[in-house]
Amino acid sequence: KKKIAIMTSGGDSPGMNAVVRACVRMAIYLGCDPYCIYEGYEGLVRGGDLIRKMEWHDVRGWLSEGGTLIGTARCMAFYEREGRLAAAKNLIAHGIDALIICGGDGSLTGADRFRAEWPSLLDELVEKGEFTEEEVTPYRHLNIVGLVGSIDNDLSGTDATIGCYSALQRICAAVDLIEATASSHSRAFVIEVMGRHCGWLALMAGVATGADFIFIPEKPREDNWREEMCRIVENHRKRGKRKTIVIIAEGALDREGNKITPQMVRDLLADKNGLAIDTRITTLGHVQRGGTAVAYDRMLATLQGVEAVKAVLDATPEMPTWVIAITENKIVRKPLMQAVQDTKKVAAAIESQDFDLAMSLRDAEFAE
Ligand code: ATP
Repeated sequence: KKKIAIMTSGGDSPGMNAVVRACVRMAIYLGCDPYCIYEGYEGLVRGGDLIRKMEWHDVRGWLSEGGTLIGTARCMAFYEREGRLAAAKNLIAHGIDALIICGGDGSLTGADRFRAEWPSLLDELVEKGEFTEEEVTPYRHLNIVGLVGSIDNDLSGTDATIGCYSALQRICAAVDLIEATASSHSRAFVIEVMGRHCGWLALMAGVATGADFIFIPEKPREDNWREEMCRIVENHRKRGKRKTIVIIAEGALDREGNKITPQMVRDLLADKNGLAIDTRITTLGHVQRGGTAVAYDRMLATLQGVEAVKAVLDATPEMPTWVIAITENKIVRKPLMQAVQDTKKVAAAIESQDFDLAMSLRDAEFAE
């Protein structure tokens, strides 16, 4: 029986459990034995009871659960060959040579590296007397398939990553709550959302909540961002708006590459010689990762989990490592490293869309 291992790695995201459930059950459905690797690459390196065989009922109720029930970790050892050698040893000891990894671009890059190194890792294990040549022969090729689990929606080549719509929903719900109190006291709120390198959450939350102004890493603000923001906020206030919402991604920058912080934005809005608005900062933090997965993420995780099992069984040594994506509403396989490399071009894609226009609709600048 073919043995397929499933693991989650990097930052957790809602929908990872749905991925594990789908992969475990699809593997059983196709006559394979599913294994879960607990605690991400840490489990792969340490082995032992962190690698466990799973049954159909083990994943009951996992479809909607937030976070990842099999754990995740940042694992320094896996960056080193020594760690990856231990990982290879543990997989062979369990008879596993098919791996499905759900994680961010770091986790998937690590997976691709592991697969590329696999033949030489096996040679080294034989050299060191851990296994005989005959013992490793059936495992000469490691097949790996990646799934993108990330709240940031930060991988190119897929329309959505597993977890991003749950986080967006959480942010929108939080902004709705804040708006009531902002409006009551005629206050401004600067809301910091996750996104050190990718501003998708901030951008979409801005569009979805009609925020007054947003800051994202991909579109550094011009030198005159202070004047621009104050002009827009003042305009809204003049039209009778009692609340001001500014959404700022963690990685917000200006054109010189300097960080724009929530404190800088607050100080500007509150400046006694300027708009003098009572302004508060709210950092949403890990609330954005929590809670159950929204319907879209459950659906995406399940459809992609099914495809991942099929892909890992179809894979041959000549094929690149696949990542499962969704494009134009279709679940597709794509070369993983191509997607990782293309991710750097995302800023250009954002520039080319009409998000500025969408943001301006809240502003009534076209009214009258
Ligand atoms: P997130 O989007 O939440 O940051 P991520 O998967 O990008 O998720 P990382 O911390 O970059 O998160 O990677 C998770 C783990 O993957 C690391 O702790 C490490 O064990 C492994 N890893 C990442 N990059 C590599 C690499 N280049 N080589 C080997 N292992 C890697």
